[in-house]
Amino acid sequence: MSNPLNQPDTIWLLFRGQELLVKADDSSFPLQANSTLLPLLNNPNYHVTWYQEQAVLVTHIDEQLPPPEGYHFQHLRALLTQINQEQFALAGMASQVLEWAKSHRFCSRCGTATMPHPQGDRALVCPSCQYSQYPRINPCVIVAISKDDTILLARAQRFNRPMYSLLAGFVEAGETLEQAVAREVLEEVGVQLKNIRYFGSQAWPFPSNLMLGFTAEWASGDLVLQEEEIMDAQFFRYDALPQIPPAGSIAYQLIHATVTELAQKYR
Ligand SMILES: [Zn+2]
Repeated sequence: MSNPLNQPDTIWLLFRGQELLVKADDSSFPLQANSTLLPLLNNPNYHVTWYQEQAVLVTHIDEQLPPPEGYHFQHLRALLTQINQEQFALAGMASQVLEWAKSHRFCSRCGTATMPHPQGDRALVCPSCQYSQYPRINPCVIVAISKDDTILLARAQRFNRPMYSLLAGFVEAGETLEQAVAREVLEEVGVQLKNIRYFGSQAWPFPSNLMLGFTAEWASGDLVLQEEEIMDAQFFRYDALPQIPPAGSIAYQLIHATVTELAQKYR
């Protein structure tokens, strides 16, 4: 698929799976096309956004290719702790556009191969039944639960290091966000909540979630863990936390805001 925005001054984000190609000396991106990068730009590309008045395109690099001289690959998750929020948002947006294009090559209604939207909207259109497929974003709630001077943190079975984070889960069809928070927490640790309040959100490109952060207070119930998902969960005192997720994630922001508030109240 050629893109009319693909001009000499276009800037690029190049992914190999969930790894982004960055300059080896300073990990910078997006990248201006040059003689080293041009041979890598053969795959279909997609417009992401505008950056300093230039079009930003994203494309993927074939899995087996090594990075060219002067560049290396960095996983999106590793970049989270190394770059600012604006840069991470740009990389995340590009990654989600690419993921969407990769998973919507065919019409989900009739199976015909899709084509780019004729007016350049971010949609893949079916030439047979005209069904338009837009980027899919999966809403996911995440909640910081406090009880007296403690915060509830859980170690998920899927964590491969001894890290504790907040409970989180996908919103189901027909649910409000508050209902999703209450249901997830009841399912995973058997606890009832009160004062569920919206905190803030973060695009989370793994691969295309929107994290919706909440705070809440424990209302009733002892911790009863859903063992297939949760290895351990405890109420930790605000000044005695275990290893938590890295700064930059909304989980970190929620934990930080909650323990700061608890410290002010209980110090
Ligand atoms: Zn169709």
